[in-house]
Amino acid sequence: MTPSCILVVDDNPTNLKLVSDILEFEGYQVIRANDAESAQELIAANSPDLILMDIALPGMDGLTLTRRLKSNPAIKPVVVVALTAFAMKGDEELALEAGCDGYITKPIDTRRFPEQVRFYLSSRGSEQNR
Ligand SMILES: [Mg+2]
Repeated sequence: MTPSCILVVDDNPTNLKLVSDILEFEGYQVIRANDAESAQELIAANSPDLILMDIALPGMDGLTLTRRLKSNPAIKPVVVVALTAFAMKGDEELALEAGCDGYITKPIDTRRFPEQVRFYLSSRGSEQNR
């Protein structure tokens, strides 16, 4: 079985590396973007199974990008999970309003993170009857 492909979008190099390293260790195919523009190109080229979306990005923010993705019927089924800063109250609500399928608070809990990712990937799998 080919591993699920996960796109990580984060403009913070430390976060991007931490999240990507954990996912690669878990055996996923990981692609990385540090802004919304390169994320869009990578989505078009790779059709990832899951997108982990930072909200605060330079240029187009993660919620605007999510709204765009979810308004495109070809991309809408992709699971988008927001990475929301714990301190930012109301971020979760905004993320869901923008069309995110869920959220994971930052800083991530590195022990729980793989389980959270599996959960979101399986929510996609059940929809598609994998
Ligand atoms: Mg950011």
